[in-house]
Order: sequence, then C-alpha cells, then structure tokens
Amino acid sequence: MQFSNLPSVDSVLSKQEVAAAAKSFDRNWIVDLVRDELALAREYIRKGGVSPNADDVAEQVCNSIQAAIQTEPRRVINATGVVIHTNLGRAPLSRAAVEASNHAAQGYSNLELDLATGRRGSRQAKLQSLLCQITGAESALVVNNNASALLLGLSALAAGKEVVVSRSEAVEIGGGFRVPDVLRQSGSTLIDVGTTNRTYVRDYDDAVTEKTAVFLKVHSSNFRVEGFTAEVATADLVEVGRNSGVTVLHDVGSGSLLLTENYGMTHEPTPQESIKEGVGLVFFSGDKLLGGPQAGIIVGKKGLVDQLARHPLARAVRIDKMSLASLTATLVHYLKGEAEKEIPVWRMISATALALKKRAKSWQSALEWPSTVDKSRSTVGGGSLPGETLPSWVLSMDCGETGVVQVMRRLRESRTPVVARVEDDRVLLDPRTVLPEEDATLLEALRYALAG
Ligand SMILES: *Cc1c(COP(=O)(O)O)cnc(C)c1O
Repeated sequence: MQFSNLPSVDSVLSKQEVAAAAKSFDRNWIVDLVRDELALAREYIRKGGVSPNADDVAEQVCNSIQAAIQTEPRRVINATGVVIHTNLGRAPLSRAAVEASNHAAQGYSNLELDLATGRRGSRQAKLQSLLCQITGAESALVVNNNASALLLGLSALAAGKEVVVSRSEAVEIGGGFRVPDVLRQSGSTLIDVGTTNRTYVRDYDDAVTEKTAVFLKVHSSNFRVEGFTAEVATADLVEVGRNSGVTVLHDVGSGSLLLTENYGMTHEPTPQESIKEGVGLVFFSGDKLLGGPQAGIIVGKKGLVDQLARHPLARAVRIDKMSLASLTATLVHYLKGEAEKEIPVWRMISATALALKKRAKSWQSALEWPSTVDKSRSTVGGGSLPGETLPSWVLSMDCGETGVVQVMRRLRESRTPVVARVEDDRVLLDPRTVLPEEDATLLEALRYALAG
C-alpha cells in the first residue's frame, strides 16, 4: 500500500493552476474538490493501484472544475436518423425562430405592452391570431407544454366531474405522463369505456350521466393497436357530445400542421381537421412535428379557451418569452407557406433518399476508412407515427479492432459529441438528422473516434 506517497491537500492546493482556481472560485469548493480526488486516490490504492502524485491530482481537480463550468445542455450531433429525438431535445429550431428568441432574451420587448395604446397587452395576442389563422379555430392559448395544457384543460372544465375516455386511449405517453394520472390530478373522475381494442359510439352514449363534463380523445402517438380494432371517429364523438351537452377535448399529440401522407407516411391527425369536425378544444405540443420550441398549444371554441385562461393554473403553466418568440417565428413559416423549406424537422422529413445517399457518400470519401454506404430507414420518433419509417442511406462503418462500443463512446466524448446507431456490429450514421452545416464537425468527431 502506498498511502504514504499520497500528496497532502496543501501540496495539491499549491500547484499553480489549483492555486489560481482557489483565488477566483470559492476556495472552500476547490478544497472540497481536492479532498474528493484524494479520497478517490485512496480507494484506488486500496485496490492495489499506484499512488498519483500532486500533479496528477491537480490535473484531475482542473478537469472537475472544467466539467463544473461547462454549460449544459451541450450541442450534440444527431446521426441516429430519429428526427424528433426526445433525449436529444426534440425539434431543432429554424434560423428565424432562434433569432426571435435571441431578440426576446437580449433586450426588453413589448411582451405585455400594446405599443398602439401604451397600455398593458396580452403576451398571447400574436400567437392567438397566428394559430386561429392556421388552424381555423376561434381562439387559442399557449402554455408550457402539452402535458400542462391537458392538466389545465381538465382542471378548468372537469374538476369534480366525470371524463369519459376509451380504454384504448387511457395510455402512458412516456416519462411518467399517464392519462389516468393527469385526470386524477385535475380533480376529475375517469370513466373508461369500451375495451382495449374496440370502442363504439354507444359506449360513450351509455356512459353519460348528469356528472359527465368531457369526452377526452387521446391520439395513440407512441404505439399502434392492430387487427380486430374499432375506434370512434372524431366527428361521431362530436355528434354524441352535441346531443348530450358534453364537451369534446382532443389531445392530438404531435400536432402536425402539414399532411404527413404527402411525405410517404400514414396520416397523423392534424389540429385543423379536429377543429373542422367541431371538437371543443384541441391540444398539441410545440416541439414535435410542429418543429418549434417546447410548448403546449390549445386551440378551439372561444368560450372554452376563456375558461382555461381564467383558471389559476394558467398562470402556473405560463409560456416564457423566449419560447413564445420562437414559437411565433415558427408559426409564421406556416403562414408564409415555407414550413417545409425553413423548419428543420420538415427539411429532414422531406429530404430525398438520393440527396441522403450523396451526403453519406461525401462523408465516406472524406473519411478514407473501411465503410459502406447502405440503404436504411430513418424514423420520425418523439411520440408520433409509431412504426413509420422513411427510406434513407447511411454511412456504415467497420470498427475493426477498436469495436463498436469504443467507437460509440469516443463519438460521444469528442469535442462536439455525436450520437449514432449500432446495427449488426457496425456504427451507422444517418445524414437525415445531421444539419448540413454540421458536416465538417461530424467528420472531425469521426476521425477522433476512429483514431482511438
Ligand atoms: C407527447 C404527447 C404529450 C405530452 O406532450 P409534451 O409537450 O411533451 O408535454 C401528450 N399527449 C400526447 C398524445 C403526446 O403524444
């Protein structure tokens, strides 16, 4: 055992860089970092390791300081081919959306000031007019995210009353968001009707009592029930609701404003069609297929939206100014008919297989490493279009002696971390989700990873 060789706290603190850090940072914190490193060293020696010297420990302390002051989340390159990747921050924003949010952040803004009158204005006004124009709704309200939108809607309209949900739709969306739990939290009672695979109009009809406030329809965004199934069409549910005086709420999940069938995928329900069919309120996310920042969007009948806006929870789940600014800019792309061209998730979805093949080939020739360019599939992800894929081409790398686990790790450890995919003992990189301006950085990370 080499405990006697272990440097003292003071000898590490007297190393030039550590001493400098102790001056500029909180000294007690730096002393704690030194102690933590020495404790690790003791553990290492106990297991038969060689004692580090004061320089080694000082270097570790400096690494800890660097890690502590590194801001998070860091920029990461998404080479997985999953367009809306929840772990990687869902939708990347358009240039205009980023600029809008920077403007809102950097200076003061007319967030709640009506410039025409000089009086207090509403932060929702602009979003409201854009959303009404785009979806055909009477009114709109935007909050922190779709989960809070739904909680607000149920709290304002159904607390102390009953909410009828099909058994096939009382689902878990992911990350602890379960429809029955949200209902309970809102103070309403879940009445589940039908069966897991089949629910009919009469199931809703039969469930109506004097306590029924809402029929809630939830889009099964992250799974698919196949085979002997039946679900009630939105229009039919609206009809039952109208006859029995029950409000219909529709959580469409990803809230695609463009028609996904035009991009070779199955149809994803759009807010526009729910509004057209007469739904009371439609709920959707800002950062899934809409391609904007995290937000929960509610569109629908004015009387209902007003009820939500007046509820105390509305303030608790209010949208912040930066998200509001970037969401506004994102919606303007739809108004101008340039969504496919300007919004990154739609640019990625609409990229042709040929264009992707060309990019994968260009990476291949720049890299000079044993690899092939192969046909593959990308996915949309992010709780939309389960099982749907888009034809793509990937750079498929033979990792040789180094092995895929090590190459994947080194990709994550490179200056700009890269997240890729492993299939059949090869590392695959899908150009669909790599932004065009990231090509050079990606190649740099690949060279670093393969050199290890
Ligand atoms: C993703 C999703 C939610 C949750 O939306 P967040 O914006 O992540 O809060 C709710 N309902 C459905 C159907 C979803 O797909």
